[in-house]
Amino acid sequence: MEKDSHALQEHPRARLAFLPTPVVRLPKLTQSLGGPHLWMKRDDQTGLAFGGNKTRKLEFLVGEALAQGCDTLLSAGAAQSNQCRQVAAAAAAVGFDCHLALGGEPPRDIKGNVLLDLLFGATLHWCGDQRKGEALPRIAETLLSRGKKPYVIPYGGSNAVGALGYVSAMEECVAQQRDLGIEFDAIFVASSSGGTLAGMYAGAKMFGYKGRIIGIAIDKTAQSTAAHETMLAELATETAARAGLPIRFSADSFELLRGYLGDGYGVVGTRERKTILRVARSEGILLDPVYTGKAMGGLIDLIEHGELGGMQNVMFWHTGGTPALFADPASLFEGGP
Ligand SMILES: *Cc1c(COP(=O)(O)O)cnc(C)c1O
Repeated sequence: MEKDSHALQEHPRARLAFLPTPVVRLPKLTQSLGGPHLWMKRDDQTGLAFGGNKTRKLEFLVGEALAQGCDTLLSAGAAQSNQCRQVAAAAAAVGFDCHLALGGEPPRDIKGNVLLDLLFGATLHWCGDQRKGEALPRIAETLLSRGKKPYVIPYGGSNAVGALGYVSAMEECVAQQRDLGIEFDAIFVASSSGGTLAGMYAGAKMFGYKGRIIGIAIDKTAQSTAAHETMLAELATETAARAGLPIRFSADSFELLRGYLGDGYGVVGTRERKTILRVARSEGILLDPVYTGKAMGGLIDLIEHGELGGMQNVMFWHTGGTPALFADPASLFEGGP
């Protein structure tokens, strides 16, 4: 079973990422916390437009778009969506047009990810409170009527095609464990639309990763417990099938922590602020204000409360997002920089 990566290799794939991403130690953070050895998988360094987890998903999504003869990428997200920024860059890289349906109103200041979307030549559609792709069918219609061939990438790139990126990422991670001569007791990762987590669970089964994989919810999509886990199970099952592994996941397969949402999606509170400054100043590594600042805040809290007592090696999977640091600098400092 562990050697059968064949079906995965048959999927069309656009090579957009610099892989493998490094695995680094976090020695000073480890020492100051006095808990398990901490490691970080640097998917903030995937190389496409400042990197992030969406690059891995886009390798398979854009691969499919190319195979289908499309000429335009269409996606949706929050105003500071990392997904949309990466879609815009991927479109430019393969010579496609790009249309993005963004939540909110046209901003007065162009900054962070919005600036990058525009640099890559994307057309932005401001959609008010519809930040999860509600407007995609309408925009796709318009594009079709103009003779374009749009490829629609759902919110977060989280379907069974995009999630293949994280099946493949687990193969990479297992090889890195082997090279380092260690086994991670747990991987911690920020989770929102779920494609990353579902892909990791499928990849873990496929490539024989035996530790835990613990998602930390960063928005309330995940708040209504049962429905979200059911969605994760269906997505992981479908993703595994595509990768050639016929297994079924059930809702209770998933570990997703919901206690670190703080004041909600994208809100930088005391925990996020402290965490971003702590990791920046102790390791020289940037986290982001929306996802990894919250998730690392959660991991640190668990260690401080002795919750990871039995673990030797713990991996924090950095999923990127750092351009959002430039969207609201004042939020990163209490009482101003
Ligand atoms: C999108 C994103 C996530 C969440 O990934 P999902 O697959 O949507 O769960 C985590 N971190 C960053 C930086 C992201 O941009």
